[in-house]
Amino acid sequence: GRPRVVVVGGGAGGATAARYIAKDSDGAIDVTLIEPARHYYTCFFSNLYIGGFREMNSLGHSYGGLASEYGINVVHDWATGVDRDAKTVALAGGGAVPYDRLILSPGIDFVEGSVAGWDLSSQNAMPHAYKAGSQTELLKAQIMAMPEGGTFAMIAPPNPYRCPPGPYERVSMVAHLLKNTNPTAKILIVDPKEKFSKQGLFEEGWANNYNGMIERVGPDFGGANASVDPNAMTVDIDGEVTNVDVCNVIPAMKAGRIAELASVTEGNWAPVNAADMSSKMDENIHVLGDASAQGDMPKSGFSANSQAKVCANAVRGALTGSTVFPARFANTCWSLIDTDNGVKVGATYEATDEKIAKVDGFISETGETAEVRAATYQESIGWYDGITSDMFG
Ligand code: FAD
Repeated sequence: GRPRVVVVGGGAGGATAARYIAKDSDGAIDVTLIEPARHYYTCFFSNLYIGGFREMNSLGHSYGGLASEYGINVVHDWATGVDRDAKTVALAGGGAVPYDRLILSPGIDFVEGSVAGWDLSSQNAMPHAYKAGSQTELLKAQIMAMPEGGTFAMIAPPNPYRCPPGPYERVSMVAHLLKNTNPTAKILIVDPKEKFSKQGLFEEGWANNYNGMIERVGPDFGGANASVDPNAMTVDIDGEVTNVDVCNVIPAMKAGRIAELASVTEGNWAPVNAADMSSKMDENIHVLGDASAQGDMPKSGFSANSQAKVCANAVRGALTGSTVFPARFANTCWSLIDTDNGVKVGATYEATDEKIAKVDGFISETGETAEVRAATYQESIGWYDGITSDMFG
């Protein structure tokens, strides 16, 4: 029969890989996509929903097109295990799906105990909103319900984590929302990191647009030594306890659990070969996106999509003999600071024997004109439309 590719996870990496393999092999490869959710809500632009720039339903995408237009066998279930000798993936609903090549793109899970006082059972009292959908809606509803002059706290994550500028774009969007609905409210960032992505750009934007509203406590002042109490709604920084009204806890991250169950992780992430995103532990398994340890690329949707195309090309080549092109990768992370005030950071990459290595990069500058910032924001809207059609057709 036809060679079989099974993809676990229908997000930025998995949906793109499944679609490219099915589309470009023209039926020569049997592609199965395993994904529990009927709709994928993008984390990208979920901060813009919080800021009031996007509707939640504009972030949801269905898998119907992957099944009907590309003939992908879409299975709505959880993968619960991988038998690497038998080359099968077990499903929560029972049964096992055989593969010749397996592609894992399960995104992230949280490291237990990384924020003292918080675990997954606290995610309603103190949402992470770092997997998009109901968590994002919950966080926004809590912000809207804050008392006048109340405090929004964020426990920022340690490196490495998905979307390096994501927490700080979120702070910008929360500030934008509060400036309109609750202008005396305060934002407190508790941060274990010395510095963060696009810091100069964010700090300039916060001073210009949200002056006096945002305070950040870095590691020198106890930012790495915080605990929370979800019942009392308090944050304890180095022994100093603060009452807060909303607390967005973004814990430390690791590869989605199925990567661990497949035994392709080393520490928190799954090491891969840059040329084809194959696992360093198993040549028949590829790991994409946030879950992979690949080298220099940030964990982003753009990166996962870029890695998926390289992987799809390599997997087709291995299974059908089609031409394999040299691996080239790219990433850009846009962030919205305020209305029409977009900034970006990005780079191109190549595969070396060792890792995905950065070739060349760029970043927005402080002091840019309103026209440049508006154009950067428009670019990000074009990117969103582009990547979602690249994923879902
Ligand atoms: P995901 O897209 O998370 O997909 C993983 C999928 O796997 C999920 O659908 C999940 O249901 C499924 N899954 C997990 N385990 C299993 C299992 N056992 N069986 C079956 N299915 C499973 N990136 C950008 O490029 N630009 C941005 O502007 C941007 N903004 C962001 C803002 C926020 C607030 C956040 C949180 C992230 C942002 N990102 C952005 C990052 C981006 O969302 C991720 O890097 C990207 O989604 C990673 O793709 P992935 O395929 O690795 O994982």
